[in-house]
Amino acid sequence: AVEVKGLRKSYGAQTVLDGIDLTVRAGEVVALLGPSGSGKSTLLRCINRLEGWEDGTIRVGGQSLGTDENGRPLSPRLTAQMRASVGVGMVFQQFNLFGHLTARENIAGPLRWVQGLSRFDADRRCRDLLERIGLAHRADALPRHLSGGQQQRVAIARAVAPAPTVLLLDEPTSALDPELVGEVLEVIRRLAVEEGLAMIISTHQLRFAGDVADRIVFLSGGVIVEEGPAAQILSAPSHPLTVRFLSSMT
Ligand code: ATP
Ligand code: MG
Repeated sequence: AVEVKGLRKSYGAQTVLDGIDLTVRAGEVVALLGPSGSGKSTLLRCINRLEGWEDGTIRVGGQSLGTDENGRPLSPRLTAQMRASVGVGMVFQQFNLFGHLTARENIAGPLRWVQGLSRFDADRRCRDLLERIGLAHRADALPRHLSGGQQQRVAIARAVAPAPTVLLLDEPTSALDPELVGEVLEVIRRLAVEEGLAMIISTHQLRFAGDVADRIVFLSGGVIVEEGPAAQILSAPSHPLTVRFLSSMT
């Protein structure tokens, strides 16, 4: 599980996150919705320690994220180590695969270089994941020879491979043609359940949010203004800001 309590962060004079409380259980998928600039990416970046913060705590798998209670940024090396040890994975809008490596190498490589797995164990984990994302037959393809949906499935498998406690996805389907969203959605749901991952997904796509998430959290101005079961938030929102946002999207 991931547990965020009283998280406050600003850029200069601008408060970007203003007292965020959010707990996501293992196996649960939460969609973060909210207007542009509401703080969705910043929240994900704080959980992943890509940003520091002023106040509040973030625990992943019961572990507080490191020694720097003030959220002061650590050295890149320490940050990478900490991320690996507390188990946070992240997936970005633009896939970010290694372009010169095959699908197989993109997944198995980091397992060896970062996690220290043997070639045998890394290959076994990789084969298993490629099968579960339906890409066993494309294992030796370079990213540029894969569709956007296939590339994003590989990126998700790569992030899931080290068995993190929590997986953060920042607009994972925004760069995809609409007809490719479904296959990515399926992979996300499947891996969340099978791997028992807590997932937090920021998105602007209401339909995707409704299909992928157990719970929707609506962010506005750095504050959670409403949250609840996905179906309920989408069909019967109660906060005026949520109502306005949802009607502007349709
Ligand atoms: P979008 O839906 O457009 O992706 P978002 O909800 O992800 O928006 P954030 O990217 O978290 O929003 O940004 C929240 C606020 O923080 C915005 O006002 C943004 O301008 C500001 N901000 C983000 N990153 C920085 C930065 N590195 N330096 C200064 N301000 C920043
Ligand atoms: Mg964003």
